Amino acid sequence: MKATNQHMVNARRRRLVMIIERGTHRDAPVARPAVRADRTAVIFRSELDYIRRCILDRSDIETGGQLFGYWTEDGTPVVLYAIGPGPRANHQQAFFNQDVDYLVTVGRALKSRYGLHHIGEWHSHHRLGLARPSGHDARTMNSTIREKNLGRFLLCIGNCTAATATVGAFLCDGSSCADMGWSVVEAESPVRPFADSQMDGILVHPSSRPSAPRRQEAGERPDYAPGYWLREKGSAAVLNDIIAYVRASSGGKDVRPLLNGSGEVVLRVGSGRVYEDILFPAGFPARAPELLKYTDGTLVVRRRPSVWSATKEGILPAFKSFYENRI
Ligand SMILES: [Zn+2]
Repeated sequence: MKATNQHMVNARRRRLVMIIERGTHRDAPVARPAVRADRTAVIFRSELDYIRRCILDRSDIETGGQLFGYWTEDGTPVVLYAIGPGPRANHQQAFFNQDVDYLVTVGRALKSRYGLHHIGEWHSHHRLGLARPSGHDARTMNSTIREKNLGRFLLCIGNCTAATATVGAFLCDGSSCADMGWSVVEAESPVRPFADSQMDGILVHPSSRPSAPRRQEAGERPDYAPGYWLREKGSAAVLNDIIAYVRASSGGKDVRPLLNGSGEVVLRVGSGRVYEDILFPAGFPARAPELLKYTDGTLVVRRRPSVWSATKEGILPAFKSFYENRI
């Protein structure tokens, strides 16, 4: 964000949090449990896709919205419903202000009808090349948390190319904002269909469509997520080694590399009714790959290794160990 807009944005953000807090946190206890450093944020797939679609709607300008849900007893944020920009939101190259009337109207309905709290915010750094909260983002959020005694708040930052969008989760506690990582529930949020139908006419939805993992056409340059490991020189050879290894150890099953709508590679092993996907998430190899098994289109198993440690040079041996121990 530009320094010249700092005061205005600060004031708007404070007002925005204050408005929602008046309605949602009046009865909440002030003391909240300490947050562990290895915590992840829980989000339903439908809500992550919703945010990504909002980002893709405005892929070269800032946009944003709010996250609604609750905190578990151990301090884990659970996102059950996300909103995007209201009709009078202010979108600029390096800052975004939500339409406050929109936020208040929707926030109150989500609180009174579904008991959801305003637990976080998201905004997009579109193609600015910054996948973290800016220094200004962190200072603004943390001073608001201290002033309003919120304890903590979830701040999510989006990035995109023309066709793919990623969203990172950060937990701000009044002094700093730490990278959280997601635990994605592979399902539609139970709140989404009810809230969408009951607030039909009020809600403004994104127009971009989510895309399923798909095969790259011949000659097509893969549109990887910003900062994705396969953008680095030499990494394609590592992926080819992984594909060859999976092919050899899966007994001749079909193994296809696909690209999902977040610009992440998925290896699909098998076809027809039963198949498994190996996801190489944004943040790989620091983040572990994930194994997802599907039967008749339904996710039946999802597994992340409990131990994962891979340097850039040691991706293949780490992957082999993960894949051998996957069941
Ligand atoms: Zn920002």
